Amino acid sequence: MNREHSDTKKTKLREYRDKREFRKTTEPDGNSKGPSGKPRFVIQKHDASTLHYDFRLEVDGVLKSWAIPKGPSTDPSENRLALQTEDHPLDYAGFEGVIPEDEYGGGTVIVWDGGTYRNLGEEADEDVSMEASLSTGKVKVWLDGEKLKGGYVLIRTGDKSDNKWLFKKMKDDEGDARRNPVSTEPRSILSDKTIEEMTEDMKDD
Ligand code: MN
Repeated sequence: MNREHSDTKKTKLREYRDKREFRKTTEPDGNSKGPSGKPRFVIQKHDASTLHYDFRLEVDGVLKSWAIPKGPSTDPSENRLALQTEDHPLDYAGFEGVIPEDEYGGGTVIVWDGGTYRNLGEEADEDVSMEASLSTGKVKVWLDGEKLKGGYVLIRTGDKSDNKWLFKKMKDDEGDARRNPVSTEPRSILSDKTIEEMTEDMKDD
């Protein structure tokens, strides 16, 4: 990693670091280096003041992030609201546990889904990079997760300063109107715990 890249990463994670007290939360501080290879995605179920699902895509050394209040749908006819949040460090992808209640984002987190992804914009005739897709407000990715598979699209609903996006399944063989993994597959892909079990187990420590 060259110096210019590190500086960019530092700037990108400023908001993430400013919001957290790393002496009090076990969340990563973003100082470790991520692995190489295919870019990753992760979806964390987060029982904060309101329950939501944090969808994160590895782009240029950070995790671009959106909070999806209702969680992802495998039904191509359903739009899900996705609110863009601050970039997170790569090692956040493996985080689950309990963020102290009086800290930013306080509550229980499990890694609900994850894997690698492909930028479908890059494969199309236009050859659009992830950075360009994010900038224009239309991101098409193919997810290879344990629960979510296939094409998904993120579309920004307002102008560039707007954090509101829509997240939806694209029409392909992986689309399924009945599966509803948010309710039928509640467990962590790392610990196999539900968010309730994680909360209970952390109390016992
Ligand atoms: Mn969250």
